[in-house]
Amino acid sequence: MKVYVLRLGHRPARDKRITTHVGLTARAFGASGFVLGDIHDAKVTSKIKEVLKKWGGEGFEVKDGVSSTEYIIEWRRAGNIVVHLTMYGIHVDDVIDEIRGLNKDLLVVVGASKVPRRIYELADYNVAIGHQPHSEVAALAVFLDRLFKGRELHFIFPDAELCIEPCAKCKKVVECGAKKQ
Ligand code: SAM
Repeated sequence: MKVYVLRLGHRPARDKRITTHVGLTARAFGASGFVLGDIHDAKVTSKIKEVLKKWGGEGFEVKDGVSSTEYIIEWRRAGNIVVHLTMYGIHVDDVIDEIRGLNKDLLVVVGASKVPRRIYELADYNVAIGHQPHSEVAALAVFLDRLFKGRELHFIFPDAELCIEPCAKCKKVVECGAKKQ
């Protein structure tokens, strides 16, 4: 199952950090690509690509400037599934097994500011990570973690330049080649 994450729009002055974090969370929690809809922001895409270069995942696709609505329609036309994360949706616990069981590629959609009604209608599933307002980064992380049952946190990026040696009381970063020897 391939998972892509679509961020619906972005206000460059306000959302730069959070949109970058949505992209980095997508990568770290097992998605195969990140799409920033409706706007170009080279600062966001280049920051994510910098992380890919150092920490691996060069196969992770990063795109911006596509029409969010068109992208969702195309995704569905190809027979894949669209999951929109919203506090107004169905509780994640009530649908996650069904979504996983479909065994189809998923587009996970998160909002920035107000999400248009049309997105709720286009989505196959409107899913709530609890029914309290919080953040797109938190919502995405919890959704992907439930989808992959925590296995994504053990994933190793084979093309990483840098690797972490886990350490209880220090910070240890090594070149991955050195670690593999
Ligand atoms: N005010 C916006 C609205 O009415 O849709 C929501 C803004 S919220 C800061 C940004 C995004 O975080 C939402 O579009 C949604 O994708 C995600 N989000 C926040 N809380 C959530 C929750 N409890 N469950 C699922 N997604 C959530």
